Order: sequence, then structure tokens, then C-alpha cells
Amino acid sequence: MTMDDQDETVPRLCEQLSRSSLRELLRQDREKEEIAEAQVSWYHGKISRETAETILRQGIADHGNIDGLFLVRESTASPKDFVLSLMYNREPYHFVIQNQCEGHYRIDQGPVIHGLDELIQRYKENDHGLPHKLTQFCIDQPPPHQARKFGHTNILHRAVGEGNVQITQEILNSVNHPDVNKKNADGSTALHDASFYGLSEIVSLLLAAGANANSRDSGAYTALARACCGGSGRPNSVAVLITQGGADPQEPCPKTGWVPLHEAAMRGHCECVKMLLAFDAPLMSRTHDGDTPCDIAQKYGKLECASLLSRYVVPKPQLKKEQWYHGNLDRQGAARLFTLHGVQDGLFLIRPNSRRTDFYVLSLCFNRSPYNYEIRKSMYQNKHVYYIDDGPFLPSLDHIVYHYSKRADGLPCRLAKAISPNNRIVEVSVVPPLEEENEYSNYKQLTSPDLPPRPDNVGTWGMTNKGTPPPLPSYPPPKKTLISIPAKRITTGSLLGEGEYGAVYKGVYDNGKEKRDVAIKCFHDDQVNVMEDFMKEATTMQGLDHVCIVKLIGVSKSPLMMIQEFVPQGSMLDFLYDHPDQVEVKVDLYLWATQIACGMMYLEEKHLIHRDLAARNILLQSKRQIKISDFGLSRAIGADNDYYRASRGGRWPIKWYAPECVNYGQFSHASDVWSYGVTLWEMFTFGEPPYGDKRGAEVIKDIERGKRLPKPDNCEAVTYDLMLSCWSARPADRPTFAKLHRKFQVDDEYQTVSKSRTGRMK
Ligand code: AMP
Repeated sequence: MTMDDQDETVPRLCEQLSRSSLRELLRQDREKEEIAEAQVSWYHGKISRETAETILRQGIADHGNIDGLFLVRESTASPKDFVLSLMYNREPYHFVIQNQCEGHYRIDQGPVIHGLDELIQRYKENDHGLPHKLTQFCIDQPPPHQARKFGHTNILHRAVGEGNVQITQEILNSVNHPDVNKKNADGSTALHDASFYGLSEIVSLLLAAGANANSRDSGAYTALARACCGGSGRPNSVAVLITQGGADPQEPCPKTGWVPLHEAAMRGHCECVKMLLAFDAPLMSRTHDGDTPCDIAQKYGKLECASLLSRYVVPKPQLKKEQWYHGNLDRQGAARLFTLHGVQDGLFLIRPNSRRTDFYVLSLCFNRSPYNYEIRKSMYQNKHVYYIDDGPFLPSLDHIVYHYSKRADGLPCRLAKAISPNNRIVEVSVVPPLEEENEYSNYKQLTSPDLPPRPDNVGTWGMTNKGTPPPLPSYPPPKKTLISIPAKRITTGSLLGEGEYGAVYKGVYDNGKEKRDVAIKCFHDDQVNVMEDFMKEATTMQGLDHVCIVKLIGVSKSPLMMIQEFVPQGSMLDFLYDHPDQVEVKVDLYLWATQIACGMMYLEEKHLIHRDLAARNILLQSKRQIKISDFGLSRAIGADNDYYRASRGGRWPIKWYAPECVNYGQFSHASDVWSYGVTLWEMFTFGEPPYGDKRGAEVIKDIERGKRLPKPDNCEAVTYDLMLSCWSARPADRPTFAKLHRKFQVDDEYQTVSKSRTGRMK
């Protein structure tokens, strides 16, 4: 069923836009949509049974007895279910529409149907056991889009189908744009289409506008799965969906159990396979039929892909068996230990299986009860593998702990804290595997350092309006493994400052051939809970290579230290404060502002949001070159929690944050632009603290009332206007980093800055 099939003769949007304004097209589009949506406006939201009965009885009072008059409402008893209320013989009947899994429903023991719209259609055709088939409905609104299978093809779907970045951006910037998560007549969202076509720039725009990476299309595919199906694979879109959208590579299709790696393997899309593995997708997830991605590649004759998957060696997690393995404990013993440690969710241990000595048991605490899962052992491709139920095959018990500490994947919760045999609680941080220096793992052989931009011709799937998509920005796959540097190669020198996780020292790294100055970020042993942030920062930094960004050299495992290039002049904030007499506003500040914008453009190209841009995090290589540092918060995923955890180290970045970050936890390149404005203000006041000693909560109130930081004395009106534009309430009204870069670089006002000195994009 489709609500409105796209008319083949509809002209391309850019042609239409040459005749009408976007506003007018949006208005027409909305009108068309309202007409189409009236056919499914049987949804009444969260109303009680009594209200439903009143509405139905009123319908009969107005129009005479109608058997099969119905409405659908949200269940008041269980959150994801709905209720069908219908009239028969002037009496109301109510049937629970049970949610089986995302977007799939059934009534009683009837078949599971994708979408409320399809379910209603089924019961319109035949009663299938209801007192009467559905006939007419009491009108209110269409059902929520995530609960339906099909929608109406709107202007946003068309812009994406035409691969037009600029029009997509303009639509998203307009006040009356359609909801980004609406489905089109084929049942896919704009994000599904952009991912399938490999339009990674549009994928990024849609995610920034709130597109849901977990929504399923009419084939029950997520956008990530679609990116693995399209063309010859869309690795760039895969990377954007995971890093920016938080898409989970382990999310299976509810019908088949296939994960995105199966989809890529079946089509022989090797670059997507590499990208998914780079993001820790389990190598050996199993479909409902028990096939791993390698089995699927073999079945479909994708031999290059099969060989790639069978050669891949999963990196070893940094975990120690003695943290969680109890060689001599039974079920009751495990329960006793949980009680002793306060039966917290996520508390776990692993013990031998009393029935089969080659099997193990994972005991996990959830909802104040112990749960026990058998960990089985078997042979796959001549190697031992471990697994729980139909979960992925994993190469060792360490990998079991690593995998299930990253995601629940069928368990009631993630593994969070291990009880060790000596009765201590050990937090299991999600620590990425380390690679030994100079040792090339299979992964490195498999991964090309820079993927060439892909010729992403729009395919034929799904859309009737085709166009030539824009060239893609190249999006190199992240290096998965960190370079491990033995501590003996590092000599620690003087203290440089206090960082988020511990002290930062100057030091020397001797790699056997040459010595170089480095900065050593240490890690407080007692702060186990910040280890995850520390490793995230290292993992983020290793993929970055730009003159305006501090480079990561590697990580020492024991003691845990991050080794970075040494930036001799230290923090820009300290320099401004300590040596104002050495800083010329029209030369140095404008140069630094240009270079910061340039570094931020590079991060934007990498789809990375910094989330902690501030003068304290800008380092000075010399007066001619800044470096952006401190990537501890640079992941859009789990924004607020990470942020507040990070603030325990003494930082309080609220004053650098845009209102949507504070209010909704929404971080984007536009929220980084807000922070850039505050950083400019710090520069032009020579290091004054923004908003003085006002409390964060007061600042938020002031901002909401429209108040902004005052113009610094040393600042030209035009520069202050730029700051004010960075602090526009609506993210879409803020300038881009590209614009800010241009402004500082070329405006007459700033011509004293020689172009040769500005940082350039690589
Ligand atoms: P952070 O952990 O980034 O907040 O660092 C704390 C302080 O250590 C900074 O304010 C700098 O003074 C110094 N610092 C950090 N990284 C470096 C580096 N790569 N080179 C020189 N100094 C650094």
C-alpha cells in the first residue's frame, strides 16, 4: 500500500525552484500531504478507554449506526502498545495491538505486521476474528511515523532523491520543513535514501537535523544496513551514521537476524566490511539461520569478501581474566557475592559450568536478581569460539566481556562492574584494543589509509526522481588500533599543566632511531571511571592529521599515558593572560581566529564535533601557528552524560555551550560555532573568564532572555557582529566555519593577515 505514488512527470526541484520560492513549494507540499494523510487519520494519541468510547458513540450519534467504526489510540497500560477501539451493534470493543519489535505489531495471535497502517488495512479487508471488519473511522491525526510502514513522498525526500545537498540544506533550514523522520511512499526515510545512495554529506545534514538512525524502512532495514546495500557499498555513509548518528553495527533485522555486516558481505562490498570492522562490528554475528558474514559471503560467491573476513584477526581487548573469572564458584556462590555487593545492575562474574567443564557461565545482576547465561564453546573455521545463545561467535572469554560491556545485545543490561575473585569491584571500561608498535595486524593490511572519493551514482532503488549526486567529501576510515608505545621509551620531564585525567608533562620519546619532544598526558590510577573517556580521546585523535590540530603519537599501556606532539608555547589562554603586550590584535588574534576556524573546518569534514572548544584548549606552536587540542568530549554520542562526567575534572563548559546543548543535549557543528564565538570573546578580552563569576544556571537564563557577552574593548564592531552571529539562538542562523574562516581571512578589515600564514586544509 502506498499513500501517494510519486508522479513520474514531477519536474526536478531545482527547476521548480527557478519558478516558485521554496516557501511556496513547502506550502504546496504540506497541502498535498494533508490531503493524503487524511486517509489514515484514525489515530487519537493517548486517550482513555472512556474517551474513546465517547468519541465512537458520538460518531454513531452523528452518522447513524456504523458497524466497524473505529479509532486507534496509544495504550495507557504498556508504553509501546496501541489499542484498536471499534463499534459493533452499537457496542464498543477494544483490542490491544501488541508491539512485537520496532514498528511490528499484532492483535491477539494474528500475524506480526509491519506498521500500524498495514495492520489497519488488513482488518479493513476482512474481520480476521474481530466482531466486524473495519469500515469508517473517527478522524483525528495520522499515526506516529515510526509506527507506520509507508508515508507520503515529500519535498525533503525529493531533494535527497535528486542528491541535491544545497536544496536539502535549504529545506532543513526553513521554519516549516517536514519532519525529517517521515517515511516516503516507498516506506523509507530521507536518511535511508541518502545512506543507500551514499550521499554522506546529506546523511550528516539529516542527522544534525534530528534524523533517527535506528528507524526501519519498509524492508525493516536501518539506514546503516541500507548504506551497506547501496551501489558498491557506501563506507563514507557507514562512518557518518556510526560516528554522528550513533548507529549500532550490531543492530539485527528483526525478521532475519542479519546485521549490516551480513548485508555488506552478501554483496561483496569489501570497503563497507572494512569500515564496519573498523568500528568494532563483531566479525561473527549469526543470522537466525546461524550464518556468519563469512558464511554469507561464501554462499553468495563473494570470495574476496569471504577471504577478507576469514583472514581478519579480531584485536585482543585489554582485559584481564583475573578481574572477573572465578574458577571455583557455583550459582549460589555467585548470588551470595551479588548480595554482598549490593545487587547493582550490570554487576557480573564468569564461572565454570558445573555440567560441562568446557562451558562457562556468565552471572549477571539485573533488577536486584541474578541471571545466569551459559557461555558455550565450539569450533568455527578450525578455531575455538565462545557464544551466548544466538549471540555472535567471539574468539575468547575476554572478547565476551568486551562485547557485552559495550552493548547488552540481548542481555538485560550491559556488563558494567566485575566482581573479582579477591572480592573487589572492577569497572569494566569499554577500552579499545591496542596494537603493538610496528606490528601490522591483519586489519592494517586490509584497510587502505585513504579511501578515494566514491563515484556515487544514484541507483534505482526506491525513488522515481533521479539526479546526479554531488561529489562526496573523502572520509578515510579511522585507524582502529592505537599505536602502543612501551613506557621504557619515554622519559618524563617537567610538569606542563593539569589535565582532565591527570598531570601533563613534557618528555622525550626515543623510538630507537630518533628522539623527539613530546607531551605526556598521565592518568590518575584511582579514576578508573574516566579511563573510557581517556581512551575515547586517544581513539578520536589518532584519526586526525592537520596542521591546526595536535597530533597523537601513541599510547603507553602501563602506566597508561597518552603521548602527543609537544606544542612548546602551551595554552593560548595562558599566553594571552601572561603576555598581552606580545599579542597584536589585528595580526595575531585574527591569524589565530582564522587557524581555529580552519582546524574546525577539518573536524567538520571528518564529521567530528569537538564539544569543548575554548581558549584553554588552543595551544600555541608559535605565534604563527595554533593547534586545537583536548578531544576528550569529541563524540556526539551519549552527549550529556559524557559531558557531565567530564566536568568532574574541574571543567565547566556550560558557558561555552549553545542553548540546544544545555537544554536538549544536541551537539552539532553549529554548537561548536557557538563555542568558537565564546573563544573569540576570550581572545579579544585577553583571557577574561566569560560571564565573570556568574553561575552556569544564571548564564543559561540570561542567554534565553537574549542577553549576550558584551563587546570587548579591543574589538571592532564587525568582529563583535561575527561573535553575535555565532550566538544566534537558532543553530541554522549561525555562520559556518567556512564562512568564519573566509571572514577572518579576506575581509578588508583583516587584510594585515598574510594568507601564507593561515593554516590550510590538507
Ligand atoms: P589538557 O589535558 O589538554 O587540559 O592539558 C592541560 C595543560 O597541559 C594545557 O593547558 C597545556 O598547558 C598543557 N598541554 C597539554 N597538551 C600539551 C601539548 N601537546 N604540548 C604542550 N603542552 C600541552
